Amino acid sequence: MSAADRLLRSGPPGTEAVVDEYRDRALPLVEQLAGKAFRDQWEALAGLGVLRLDPPEPGPGESADDAAPGPVTRSLAMIEGIGLAGADPGVVYAMASQVFGMEYPLRAVLPADAWRSVARIQDGRELLCHALTERKGGSDPLSMDTRARREGNGDGDRDGSDGGGYVLEGAKTFITAAPVADLALVFARTEQGRSPFALSAFLFPVATPGVTRADAFAKTALPGVPMGELVFDGVRLEAGSLVGGEGSGLAILSSTTTWERALLLGYALGPMRRTLQRLTDWASGRGHFGRRMGSSHQVAARISDMALVLHRSRTLLYAMAARLDAGTPTRRLAAEAALTKISVSEDYVRLTEHATALSGVRAFIADSELPADLHSPMAALTYAGPNDLLRIGVAREFGLPVEN
Ligand SMILES: Cc1cc2nc3c(=O)[nH]c(=O)nc-3n(C[C@H](O)[C@H](O)[C@H](O)COP(=O)(O)OP(=O)(O)OC[C@H]3O[C@@H](n4cnc5c(N)ncnc54)[C@H](O)[C@@H]3O)c2cc1C
Repeated sequence: MSAADRLLRSGPPGTEAVVDEYRDRALPLVEQLAGKAFRDQWEALAGLGVLRLDPPEPGPGESADDAAPGPVTRSLAMIEGIGLAGADPGVVYAMASQVFGMEYPLRAVLPADAWRSVARIQDGRELLCHALTERKGGSDPLSMDTRARREGNGDGDRDGSDGGGYVLEGAKTFITAAPVADLALVFARTEQGRSPFALSAFLFPVATPGVTRADAFAKTALPGVPMGELVFDGVRLEAGSLVGGEGSGLAILSSTTTWERALLLGYALGPMRRTLQRLTDWASGRGHFGRRMGSSHQVAARISDMALVLHRSRTLLYAMAARLDAGTPTRRLAAEAALTKISVSEDYVRLTEHATALSGVRAFIADSELPADLHSPMAALTYAGPNDLLRIGVAREFGLPVEN
């Protein structure tokens, strides 16, 4: 194994075997899936087990593998593996978003029977979206207008179990997978004002009467996954749609966003590794000024910098997975998750800049051997919390009197 391979294969014990396995299993699918609809790609890749939180049970005569990575680390390695095989980055992003930003946090908060009733999302036949952002801005959830009003006998039962349920009004926009999702996790106001208990979370089918899918956006970043809007017009929700208790929306949101900030960028590891490999091959082989391009110190330094940011990103992401596998509560990981998201997203942009510089004009020719996708890495600076605002939150943790 070369030093470069060793550097890029330095994950926790058992990880590389999972990355390799899922890369190898996804490889034949990737060719078959090129140009297919998002949903077809989703179902085929989910069929490999990428959305399953628990590893398969050992077969008859097999014993549990003590060296196997923990479930969260394994999920991250599966996401890395399918990305490394060249699966569409938009699809892999959406899978990472569902696994880390929705499945893990929902399993932690839902009662066992409620989780079982949605657990089919793990086999890819149904798809879940996370609906928080509204037209007037996504960074300030306590300014949201979407409102869930309690109906029913009004006996004041705070968990909604008075049987009355809720009526939902409002709209969510810029939602990944909204045009195709079967289920939505929607955050809505159940109280006026900016109290930390003003929001609640609801999980329900998008086919519920009163829900319409409005604009689908022509997105320039991650175009492989559709993005759209959900409009709620007098949507009657059963009390059982409430996730956690009434007023726990902000707590649930901080769990889903901490998970996302910790691990969503795992989707980028495969594309980053592929880009580094392509540019290394290119610089090694291309003739320039009467010598090979890679013999220039400046070219070599860019390749080293690409390896540096990839190594740093991989180390940070797997460290977050290990912390979550160890059972660290998400409320204790908020700052680390924010720092990981800032670091990996900015490193992804940096790696793409180096690749673009080394590719020359080919970076801007769609069907060249080295086309660059600049929009998708740049979008990572915004989703799951804009980096500028995450920096403010981190500084606040250090005691600075800084507000958003
Ligand atoms: C690819 C992609 C997928 C997405 N998927 C989803 C999804 O599935 N579900 C969902 O709910 N949303 C989704 N979003 C939306 C995303 O969550 C929001 O874009 C994000 O929360 C930021 O909100 P905004 O775009 O309205 O920006 P704004 O809140 O308007 O902020 C824009 C910029 O203004 C600056 N700024 C604003 N206020 C301050 C301040 N107080 N201090 C310093 N700087 C400030 C920052 O630079 C910030 O980046 C997605 C976005 C993208 C790009």
